[in-house]
Amino acid sequence: MTLPVTFVEVVEVRRITPRTARVTFEAGALADSVGVAPDQQVKLCFPRPGQAEPELPAQSDDPMSWYQAYLAIPEAARPLLRSFTLRRRRPGTRLVEIDFVLHGDSGPAAAWADRAAPGQRLGMVGPSALYAPTVPFAEAAAAADWVLLAGDETALPAIATLVAALPAGVRAVAFVEVADEAERQPLESGAELAVHWLTRCGRAPGEALVGAVRAAGLPGGTPFAWLAGEAGAVRALRRQLVEERGVPKSSIDFTGYWRHRLTQDDAPTAEDLADAQERFAAS
Ligand SMILES: Cc1cc2nc3c(=O)[nH]c(=O)nc-3n(C[C@H](O)[C@H](O)[C@H](O)COP(=O)(O)OP(=O)(O)OC[C@H]3O[C@@H](n4cnc5c(N)ncnc54)[C@H](O)[C@@H]3O)c2cc1C
Repeated sequence: MTLPVTFVEVVEVRRITPRTARVTFEAGALADSVGVAPDQQVKLCFPRPGQAEPELPAQSDDPMSWYQAYLAIPEAARPLLRSFTLRRRRPGTRLVEIDFVLHGDSGPAAAWADRAAPGQRLGMVGPSALYAPTVPFAEAAAAADWVLLAGDETALPAIATLVAALPAGVRAVAFVEVADEAERQPLESGAELAVHWLTRCGRAPGEALVGAVRAAGLPGGTPFAWLAGEAGAVRALRRQLVEERGVPKSSIDFTGYWRHRLTQDDAPTAEDLADAQERFAAS
């Protein structure tokens, strides 16, 4: 199993909604088999201020040693790492698409995406099966009575790939919180999918999402639940499903994708560490 660390080059940038930039990258070193699985995450390396492009950690045969090589880069030159989802690999090509939520200029990733232009290069760590869930989504979905997906716009790329992978006959319900009506995106699926769009309209992140799931009349039986988005909202959703709906913890895959008022570089909070421990115990 490998974990490639390579440069990727922007070939196209499109605004698919007012607050989402879809950036197509040429990923020359991508093996033919990767980037086609649903919910495939990668880490992107962004340049530091003043750098034209990021300095990448050295490659090695050991898939996990890239992080040591990353830490060995002097801090002033070390690239800023952010996690993203491969929205699509264009069939038969080495072109991959990533959807960036444009949440403002406070973070290097969103600020970069707002100004991205063809020819610019970033580093990409992955994609790799090393980052794949221990129980594949399709397997977990097939074993459950129905599937629940809940997240905000940062989770929308993953949700889109997950519902597209669901086969006919599966019952799925998705709750997606976006900033406003203009941020809705079409979701394609062969499954029996019901999508509930929630608009934040100035409310705190996750408030609309957590409230809508609580108020919803959901199908009977045990679901497999996939939750991602702002970490506090994901935590509240998971607690609600376990405590109020009796969903077993083992039937919930959850990931805090970002933290309100904290960057991805800030140290983990006690709650983040507790989440990580629960995820580790479940894997
Ligand atoms: C596995 C995984 C997959 C992900 N996939 C995607 C994806 O496909 N597309 C995508 O856009 N994001 C995705 N994310 C989320 C993304 O990594 C975070 O939003 C990240 O914080 C963005 O980095 P930044 O440099 O823009 O902001 P940071 O420097 O991390 O944060 C700066 C400030 O912006 C705030 N902030 C960060 N993200 C948001 C947001 N979305 N809305 C409002 N405020 C925010 C922070 O609270 C902080 O105050 C994913 C995260 C994970 C863990």
